[in-house]
Amino acid sequence: MGIIEKMRLDGKKIFVTGGARGIGKSVATAFAEAGADLAIVDLDIEEAKKTATELEENNGIKAIAIKADVTKPEDVDAMIEEILNVFGRLDVAFCNAGICMNIPAEEMTFDQWKKVIDINLTGVFLTAQAAGKVMLKQGGGSIINTASMSGHIVNVPQPQCSYNASKAGVIQLTKSLAVEWAKRNVRVNCISPGYIGTELTLNSPSLQPLIQQWNEMAPLGRMGKPEELQSICVYLAGDTSSFTTGSDFVIDGAFTSI
Ligand code: NAD
Repeated sequence: MGIIEKMRLDGKKIFVTGGARGIGKSVATAFAEAGADLAIVDLDIEEAKKTATELEENNGIKAIAIKADVTKPEDVDAMIEEILNVFGRLDVAFCNAGICMNIPAEEMTFDQWKKVIDINLTGVFLTAQAAGKVMLKQGGGSIINTASMSGHIVNVPQPQCSYNASKAGVIQLTKSLAVEWAKRNVRVNCISPGYIGTELTLNSPSLQPLIQQWNEMAPLGRMGKPEELQSICVYLAGDTSSFTTGSDFVIDGAFTSI
């Protein structure tokens, strides 16, 4: 079997949080094209259902939509129960749901701080932990978390200390879980994207005026596209990445290199 065939994900059962749109939807599409069955998990159940239907129709795989808030342990437990009922196992978890708030530190309320940390860091912990428990019992699996280049640098000029702190936390959480679970065949990696054109960036009124500035700062002169994160995630989900765990993949068009 050639390397491309070995990278296929036929029959693997995968959940994607924040899978209704943006990076989550794009990566879920790549997983489906590679032959995996999908659970599209999102707060926005209507959009998640549309994504699941589209993936089934275009790829001949099974895809379900699950409404869950990744910050609520009871929702995460119910999500795992439904996945096991429908698919019988879980091979890959893409813990990707996240939000951003651009607020000066001195003006940030406790609730605003907590919301970003809850979704971006605690949400990744809860979903990765729940996936890890299933995978440890099964004897293996692959977890991919979405961090950000903001876990590495303080990108300016927008003030986003809670976002930066949450994403730095995701990188260390990823490495910690990878070390704890390495000998039991559960691999944990993260991706750290640079600016990617999605609802989060393109449709945020506070970020609109900054897009031109980011493009000028970027070595490639542009933002990335969600589909430019697909191949790394397919690699991490599949069996050819068996020696890859505890790694953080910065995919930023060299933004953090300047
Ligand atoms: P997006 O806003 O387009 O999509 C995020 C999805 O997550 C939405 O469908 C939303 O409904 C869902 N979601 C939000 N809170 C949730 C919750 N509590 N429970 C379940 N689902 C929830 O954003 P995106 O740009 O696709 O970002 C996806 C991830 O990538 C985030 O973690 C983000 O921080 C990260 N990221 C994005 C960029 C970028 O430039 N777009 C760069 C680096 C990292």
